[in-house]
Amino acid sequence: MAEPLRVLLAGGGTAGHVNPLLATAAELRAGDGAEVTVLGTEAGLERTLVPEAGYPLRIVERVPLPRRPSADLLRLPGRLAGAVRAAEAAIAESRAQAVALADVVRAGELDRLRVCAGDDCEDLVVDLSRNRSRRFCEGGCANRAHVAAYRARRADR
Ligand SMILES: [Zn+2]
Repeated sequence: MAEPLRVLLAGGGTAGHVNPLLATAAELRAGDGAEVTVLGTEAGLERTLVPEAGYPLRIVERVPLPRRPSADLLRLPGRLAGAVRAAEAAIAESRAQAVALADVVRAGELDRLRVCAGDDCEDLVVDLSRNRSRRFCEGGCANRAHVAAYRARRADR
């Protein structure tokens, strides 16, 4: 029998992020027999939901990207480097073969990483689209923004 595909899924935070992640994990496990490890943070819902669903969870420090210049911004490179080192260790130890975020970091394509354009959302967007047009995270912010724009247009009439 062929070795199972090993996948490290990075993500988490709110239920809007954890649930799609778990759905993806279930799909990979059921369809391809993949071994899924999840990379998340101590603060997110993944802390409980992922082990409950039966996947190993690796913890990295949550590093929010500050929107305005602040002391946090100065600490960002160090914290980011620490989180990247923890992520690299998780990738190595889980022997993962598919890690989208790590690919972006390794390829030096950090311009593909941005903060979600959704109101009050500071989630990281990993833009793997060909034309680099992605603005929203996977937590439903694109949908919310479209609904809000639609309502604003209706209200104008
Ligand atoms: Zn968002």
